Amino acid sequence: MVVGEEEEDDDDDAPASYMSLEVAFLIPAAARDGGGEKQGRKKAPPFRFSAPPPKTPTLFRFSSDPHRVLILPFLKIRPLFASGLHQSHQAKMVFWEGWISDELMGTFSPIVVYWLYAGMYQLLPPLDQYRLHTRKEEEQKNLVPLSSVIKGVLLQQLVQATVAGLMFLITAKPSGEGSIIQPSLPVQLIQIMVAMLIMDTWQYFIHRYMHQNKLLYRHIHSQHHKLVVPYAIGALYNHPLEGLLLDTFGGAISFLISGMTARTAVFFFCFAVIKTVDDHCGLWLPGNIFHIIFQNNTAYHDVHHQLHGTKYNYSQPFFSIWDRLLGTYMPFSLVNRKEGGFEARIGKRLNGMS
Ligand SMILES: [Zn+2]
Ligand SMILES: [Zn+2]
Repeated sequence: MVVGEEEEDDDDDAPASYMSLEVAFLIPAAARDGGGEKQGRKKAPPFRFSAPPPKTPTLFRFSSDPHRVLILPFLKIRPLFASGLHQSHQAKMVFWEGWISDELMGTFSPIVVYWLYAGMYQLLPPLDQYRLHTRKEEEQKNLVPLSSVIKGVLLQQLVQATVAGLMFLITAKPSGEGSIIQPSLPVQLIQIMVAMLIMDTWQYFIHRYMHQNKLLYRHIHSQHHKLVVPYAIGALYNHPLEGLLLDTFGGAISFLISGMTARTAVFFFCFAVIKTVDDHCGLWLPGNIFHIIFQNNTAYHDVHHQLHGTKYNYSQPFFSIWDRLLGTYMPFSLVNRKEGGFEARIGKRLNGMS
């Protein structure tokens, strides 16, 4: 960026998209596109910013995709899934368009969805015949009251909204560069799948390390395990630091590396939240689509919450790949309890891990 320096005329009409991010943010739109110099004689402005034409290939031109302008130089995987590569024009494809931005929606919709979905489970009748633990067991084993769980979740969501808001602020398209063209549906689905794998990988290793490091377990992760009998509202009951590290950073990294737009992220984040809540719902309801599609489901994660299962089934929230690859997979079978409901009874280890 050159300030206060005369330049050749051929730069005058260079579009704002060729400028650096800094310039694009700082200069008013009228000044950026050379407004004011079109009529009559040409006068040299006292201050001008250099705006060289692009010399780099389109994929690596910083502002060719302003949505991810900051990370492109650092994450070479980004162009593979870049929204600009497989574009399809969509007119008013989401209900919030024209009301609130995708970024704002991506920040707050996961929180709203959490309380709606978990609240729905909370309002259900006891359904003893579908519970993975009896109500008596829940009373006896859980070490924290519901009111504290609600406060803990709200605290985590405050941190989550702050970080998500900052992330979207940094990566958002500068105003005045037109609307983001969303990728085609197949590309969005690939991005979501990539994001799921990234989130699983991130969470597996950090989660497992929090169990192996006694200090981290005692002071941070043990809070989540105070709910030995999980229930939906307690899905995000974590130490704030764990919420930040495991869930919020996990979501941010998945979003950034997959290259999805903020609009796709709304769906991905809400899906991840619903899956996490469902994994903690404590009910094995017939026809639950997550139980049918995912091996990593309510019963799978219930095993991890039990005292005899804490060293297994670390994988969350989507697949069980890392547990299977690294020998922490604990097989189980669902058996009927004589009091009613089910029990996820652990089976034989599949390999010789100690
Ligand atoms: Zn754990
Ligand atoms: Zn859990």
